[in-house]
Amino acid sequence: ILEAEHLCKSFGQTKVLKDISFSLEESQVLSIIGSSGSGKTTLLRCLNFLEQPDNGMIRVKDKTVFDAANPTTMQESEIRKNRLHFGLVFQSFNLFPQYTALKNVMLAKELLAKERPDYKARKKEIHDEIEAQAVSLLKQMGLSERINNYPHQLSGGQCQRVAIARALAMQPDILCFDEPTSALDPELTGEVLKVIKELAETKTTMVIVTHEMAFARDVADQVIFMDDGYILEQGDPYQVFEHPKEERTRQFLSRFH
Ligand code: ATP
Repeated sequence: ILEAEHLCKSFGQTKVLKDISFSLEESQVLSIIGSSGSGKTTLLRCLNFLEQPDNGMIRVKDKTVFDAANPTTMQESEIRKNRLHFGLVFQSFNLFPQYTALKNVMLAKELLAKERPDYKARKKEIHDEIEAQAVSLLKQMGLSERINNYPHQLSGGQCQRVAIARALAMQPDILCFDEPTSALDPELTGEVLKVIKELAETKTTMVIVTHEMAFARDVADQVIFMDDGYILEQGDPYQVFEHPKEERTRQFLSRFH
């Protein structure tokens, strides 16, 4: 479903991604691990078009959504359309503080619906549909009682679950997480990891950058270990965690034992 080929990205003189290539099958989960500064977040931001790679190509469902050699894939209107393939959940939730949980989940979908040709004629019906979907997603996230709460009335774990519902509302092909639990107290981490695990069980295609090694190993079909802008090791969790080929991977993993 996702193919990245030869992605490179520099900030000034600093090369942050150096020839990154990987692919991911539909319904599978990819965990990206690696030390701080190895380029994990930058890779995720490139996949979500929040950064533009200097080189390389990204394909989703066999369609080229980014090609550094083809300027049409880099036009703003194309990027906006292609961004819909991806849902992104940030470390810091990024909810709108002035809106309720429900409204946060509905907002993007409502904005998009306004572009539909039948929007004026079916406004009420469309709104009700979007609301029903948002309510159902919040319920799936275990937040039925919290629908009308504002972010400041919610715990970090609850905010993150609203953010996950919001990303799912757009029905992305691939759901991406950037360290979804690193802003949370340890006791709230579990509830967020649990909903991500449930999503994996229902075959949601996901890319997860995480420092939670046990979780990365548990939830992933494929693991990438990044080091200094390179993919140093790639394989199934058993291979990467139990039989790493590279000394650097072994060193990195030994810190978590
Ligand atoms: P962490 O686990 O700490 O989040 P990471 O593996 O996600 O680290 P990145 O955030 O991708 O690493 O950063 C990789 C390198 O790129 C770092 O050296 C960082 O300082 C640099 N970098 C990232 N974004 C920018 C930017 N916008 N401008 C300049 N340098 C940047």
